[in-house]
Amino acid sequence: MKVESFGTLSNGNQCDLITIENDFLKIAISNYGATLVSLIVKDLELDVVKGFDDVKHYENDGAYLGATVGRVCNRIGRGKFSLNNHIYDLYINNNTNSLHGGKLGFSYRIFDYDIFEDSIVLSYISQDMEEGYPGRLELKVTYRLVDKKLYFETEAIAYEDTICSITNHSYFNLEGIQSDSALNLLLKINSHQIGCLDRNGLTLEEVLDVKDTPFDFNEFKTIIKDIDNDHLQLHNGFGYDHNYILGDLSLKEACILKSNQLEMKIFTTLPCMHFYSANFLTDKPKGKNGSPMTYRSGLCFECQYYPNAINYSSQIKPIVKKNEIQKHQTIYQFDY
Ligand code: BGC
Repeated sequence: MKVESFGTLSNGNQCDLITIENDFLKIAISNYGATLVSLIVKDLELDVVKGFDDVKHYENDGAYLGATVGRVCNRIGRGKFSLNNHIYDLYINNNTNSLHGGKLGFSYRIFDYDIFEDSIVLSYISQDMEEGYPGRLELKVTYRLVDKKLYFETEAIAYEDTICSITNHSYFNLEGIQSDSALNLLLKINSHQIGCLDRNGLTLEEVLDVKDTPFDFNEFKTIIKDIDNDHLQLHNGFGYDHNYILGDLSLKEACILKSNQLEMKIFTTLPCMHFYSANFLTDKPKGKNGSPMTYRSGLCFECQYYPNAINYSSQIKPIVKKNEIQKHQTIYQFDY
């Protein structure tokens, strides 16, 4: 276990980088945004998540690299929703929509933390009406190592009725962060339906059956195979930027990603997984150890509630009632 400085924010606040490891995996987490900065598969000496080597690059980063995203991740249409007959207005930061918790979502906040032998527990208190969301919310995020698995667990306690959908926004590349493309990795996603996107990237209530479309990953295929297909939904997303429906709130396998030497399985209790092929990862400073931070060089598998579900009657809504605790678990399992 190691705690070191991760640099200074523009307001002078210092941030930390905490490293823990077991026999197989070594992770570094920053208390800035409860961010996963690196994930090393020790036997292969491979770091498989994109990241920067100083907190200053995360501060103005619109890519949410490795970040814990909330209070509600993904887009909320026009930043508006109604809860208990009250209309709430969120900060609009992405075309006409509110994205990833607004201007200063959880990714841009400093968390408190406790370190244990095999885990780090980070906590953040979000005040009533912060970024326009009702009710105080206390969030606990745990990163835990168990053999060849990384657990990402969230616990959100609401003091008033509110909405909450937290995801981890890591960009994975199983060939390692020095690779400048993730497109030749093999992917399987256990889902038959995606949400359709409008031209602003907002997931609509309308779903598409993936059968016979470039969105079907029920059998392993490379990302590159269909990503440039002339499908309207690939135009709307500028590539894959779509939400796959997985099912209910039980723990289930969401997807498997494979390189020649490494495989990662993701399990989650969340009902959906947003698959984003880093179509907007451009014009960034170099990442850790000079690694390329380029177009489609990483893949995000953001387990979450259906985007904008608060405004759709057909999907599970991310409502947390007063005095309730919303708990979720996403597990990244490595095999080689
Ligand atoms: C979204 C993308 C967005 C990216 C970075 C992803 O979760 O789906 O559209 O560009 O985050 O903000």
